[in-house]
Amino acid sequence: MTAILTDADLTAVSASMERATPEEIVGWAAATFGERLCLTTSLTDAVLVDLVARVAPGTDVVFLDTQYHFPETLDTLDVVRQRYPVKLRVRRPDVPMDDLWRTDTDACCAVRKVAQLDAALAGKEAWLSGLRRDDSPERAGTPIVERDRRGLVKVNPIANWTDDDVALYIQLHDVPVNPLVARGYPSVGCWPCTQAVAEGDDKRAGRWAGTGKTECGLHL
Ligand code: SF4
Repeated sequence: MTAILTDADLTAVSASMERATPEEIVGWAAATFGERLCLTTSLTDAVLVDLVARVAPGTDVVFLDTQYHFPETLDTLDVVRQRYPVKLRVRRPDVPMDDLWRTDTDACCAVRKVAQLDAALAGKEAWLSGLRRDDSPERAGTPIVERDRRGLVKVNPIANWTDDDVALYIQLHDVPVNPLVARGYPSVGCWPCTQAVAEGDDKRAGRWAGTGKTECGLHL
């Protein structure tokens, strides 16, 4: 155990970091948790990977390969692998491809995403995510630092960034972006459960569209 932070500590740290840069937030997380920190990325873009590569390159970077990713997402994974000297770990579920996503998306996400993340976080104390408050109404209250359902510390370095902030960072740092973003997919998930959205729609409106489901469970 490298750090013992109470919920009150986390609330205070989170409030104190509202005006910090993402570099400062990632730096705090790396200094606090060291090797017990990891990043998870869905590769809609590689902003968080770029941040970690610049600030804390020894951090594990985890990509959950559900076996249902778009080819464009796997291409983006290859670009990231070649571009960044990070400790990239790809986790795949130990189950064959099936059609569970047709009948029970919660069960499918539980096996292919949530269980894989739980396994990736074994032995960790904290993880970084790219959640942002303006991703969706459900994410509007995302703090910079919080406690997750496992009791781990979850750090969201760009929680208070806008779309313009993300676009500027991508431009300034020449960050790889999933080609699907330019084709109307501002949030990229698995191909059976992700549709393009119309201009002005909620960024996550294309995820499990028409089902009432809004999250896969990784961030609940
Ligand atoms: S997003 Fe769809 S295909 Fe991917 S794990 Fe969840 S239910 Fe399965």
